Amino acid sequence: MATQGALQLIADELQQPVLTPMMQQYTDVKKAHPDCLVFYRMGDFYELFFDDAVIASKILDIALTKRGKTEGTDIPMCGIPFHAYELYMGKLIRAGHRVAICEQIETADEAKARGGYKALVKREVIRIVTPGTVTEDTLLDARENNYIACAAFKNAEGSLAWADLSTGELAVQHLSQKDLLNTLSFLNPKELLLTQSDAAKTSKLEGLTITEQPDARFSADNGEHRIKQLFQVQSLDAFGQFNATDLAALGALIDYIALTQKSENFNLLPPQIHQADNLLLIDAATRRNLELTQTLQGQKQGSLFDMVDRTVTSPGCRLLARHFSAPLADTKAINARLDAVTWFLDNTTARQKIRALLSSTPDLERALARLSLGRGGPRDLAALRDGLSQAQQIKPLLDRTTSDVLKNAASQLNLSSDIVAFIDDLNKGLNSELPLLTRDGGFIADGYSAALDELRSLQRDSKTIIAKLQAQYAHASGIPSLKIKHNLILGYFIEVTPTVADKAFNTHDPEKGRDSRLFIHRQSLATSARFTTVELADLDKKISEADARALDIELRLFDEMLKKLHMINSGIRDTAEALAVLDVAAAWADLAATERHTRPVIDNSLEFTVRKGRHPVVEAALRTKSSPQKFVANDCVLTDTQRLWLLTGPNMAGKSTFLRQNAIIAFMAQIGAYVPAESAHIGVVDRLFSRVGAADDLAQGKSTFMVEMVETAAIVHQATEKSLVILDEIGRGTATFDGLSIAWATLEHLHNANKCRGLFATHYHELTTLEDTLNDMTCYTLNVREWQGDIVFLHEVVKGQANHSYGIHVAKLAGMPNSLLGRAQTILKELEAHAIGADLHDKIATSSFAETPAPYDALRETLNALKPDDLSPREALDKLFELKTLLKDHNS
Ligand code: ATP
Repeated sequence: MATQGALQLIADELQQPVLTPMMQQYTDVKKAHPDCLVFYRMGDFYELFFDDAVIASKILDIALTKRGKTEGTDIPMCGIPFHAYELYMGKLIRAGHRVAICEQIETADEAKARGGYKALVKREVIRIVTPGTVTEDTLLDARENNYIACAAFKNAEGSLAWADLSTGELAVQHLSQKDLLNTLSFLNPKELLLTQSDAAKTSKLEGLTITEQPDARFSADNGEHRIKQLFQVQSLDAFGQFNATDLAALGALIDYIALTQKSENFNLLPPQIHQADNLLLIDAATRRNLELTQTLQGQKQGSLFDMVDRTVTSPGCRLLARHFSAPLADTKAINARLDAVTWFLDNTTARQKIRALLSSTPDLERALARLSLGRGGPRDLAALRDGLSQAQQIKPLLDRTTSDVLKNAASQLNLSSDIVAFIDDLNKGLNSELPLLTRDGGFIADGYSAALDELRSLQRDSKTIIAKLQAQYAHASGIPSLKIKHNLILGYFIEVTPTVADKAFNTHDPEKGRDSRLFIHRQSLATSARFTTVELADLDKKISEADARALDIELRLFDEMLKKLHMINSGIRDTAEALAVLDVAAAWADLAATERHTRPVIDNSLEFTVRKGRHPVVEAALRTKSSPQKFVANDCVLTDTQRLWLLTGPNMAGKSTFLRQNAIIAFMAQIGAYVPAESAHIGVVDRLFSRVGAADDLAQGKSTFMVEMVETAAIVHQATEKSLVILDEIGRGTATFDGLSIAWATLEHLHNANKCRGLFATHYHELTTLEDTLNDMTCYTLNVREWQGDIVFLHEVVKGQANHSYGIHVAKLAGMPNSLLGRAQTILKELEAHAIGADLHDKIATSSFAETPAPYDALRETLNALKPDDLSPREALDKLFELKTLLKDHNS
């Protein structure tokens, strides 16, 4: 009480509330981690206090309780069971929070030995968990990478570095600030580190947490130092040439990882430098429009990835996703990947055997990462053992491969003698049934350690002795139901029902305690009474000591295995990488075999010839719907002298499908896959653009038409003659004449200035007249047949132009009321009677579309708008000055 009073006095003096030492310890931790929810370990629970508790209890839907008071008010608290923390933590992370895990770093006995009876157990934050640094298996999607990225810029140019702690990948790529969102959209990191000023400039992306970091961390010097320190090298030359922003981004990223992992020793591979020049660039809008990894509704199911993914392992699936995010633009690399697919296609038996072996191969990458981060368990070691053994079986199946990629993979499957010895060691050392955590023990096999075997036989003997004792006590007391049981608090004890306990043992007779065979009362419960004897207590002590010693030995052996693993880490990584490469190539071959895909011819020409091409997703959808309609394959031939196709045709005829299927064929070819066509010859595409359909981006404050114009502007600014541009319905989001004019001018620009290959779909039939003036553009249409007043969509792309859009027909198919359809028909007839005539092209061509279009004539516009009768003398004078200025601007 005296101490409490003194504390109160000091607190009053400092005008601070009195906190218990434990709460003081908590407050210190929280002060050091103000931006985190602190998980404060107390026994079997992580407790959260104050505002953290209020936030967590709401998100997790758990009870909010209280513990003690501060300034007279209760301290809110909520608890999370330690054994199930991953589940709860995952929810908090997904809700956008960061979690600091504060552990007890000594036992209560150690605390007592250090500071006496009242000493508080030491606690420390051992890790900060953020969306980009999660490594818990239960919180990760096995088939997706979990990236954390970091961008550093200097004058709008810079670098993006990224890492996946769960696999060890580390990479960096040069990029300009305007390309940041595009790159992020296909990398899809969960967290992005930025300086404060860059964070303010960067738009939010869904599902991406932006974490601001102090500017000082983004320095090239720091980066260089960090990388050298992490990989224990004197020079970075071996890793490639880094520029200043590469180093700054990598440095800030490694700093942050060290900060969150509270360690300098974590699982990262040397940084890979990604060259954007060797990649096919696809902006975020195109990616979305082509539904490469997600549908326009944001679902994975129904996307191209979902349709073509035949991988049988998680690392293979993650590698495929990486290929999707970075298609190639280098013919040699693409052909090398295609060679691998060809070999698997030609060697069906090898492919089937390898896929069967792969499908039961554990995820080596993630098991290795967990073990390297100190978060692995016996099952992870078993995963390595099994995965590496599978690799040994796969290797000979590749003996006769002719593909360089596969030869390289086969050589990576060549296990070094150290790895083979490691597998042998694990084969001998690990039990067949394994616990998840090392602390549960029982994972080291009998016969592996003599000391452990000895303790185990003692444990086994003791168990026989216990069984014998139980029989003896039951006999001596005349209570056949007497049992010897065990729990963590009492250890071994004798249990009988309360009724027989009273009769058989005088639990209050102190004399009885003197005989070691006599029963000593330990605990009375409603349903049972518990006793021990001196003899049982001795035995209990021996057994628990043997248990602890056995666990100690197992933990030591586990550590030794980890040390051996550390020496062969990179060899195992190579094997893991090779298995993923095999999985992807074999998966493409499997798809090609069942879906009749063909190998594209890839070169550096400007050719784009696809014969009988198909849209893989639409084709599959038609098949599953068991619709009588089969997918109609179509040709697309873009050459040097016929670079643009203008496609008109009725609604629902298949224009969008045709456009997208050709973009998808180019994309698939350049990730190294066979394509859904009878044949394909593709001159490598440097940039793929697709503007399909209309979508609001209200979150970014952009209307439908604005989004359309922003995307189109990006295309006309960036497309080169090696690019492939797909434009669907440009200019539909505004008034007819505005839209037509924009579509017209865009088409001319793509033809004359960009000189790219492209497919352009439109309902502005007026545009077809451009075929006369744009030499490299040809008109195509989607065939329909009119039959008994109805139309039949043939989905065939043929040379020519459509005269109608048959919009009213489609409205009928959609179930519009007949009265409305009748009225629409009347209005259409009226409009067509007064519509702009066929001479429109001549009018526009002669007036406004010269090679270099005339600048906007503001002078003429202002003069036209003038109404002299409405002007006061003063306004007239002002107008005169305004016109003089406009004239000056016009002449300059
Ligand atoms: P709109 O002008 O209204 O946008 P569209 O001409 O772009 O229409 P799509 O959206 O490409 O038409 O296709 C409409 C439907 O026609 C598709 O959902 C598909 O079911 C079917 N379809 C498209 N192309 C083919 C094809 N080649 N073979 C068979 N069915 C097809």
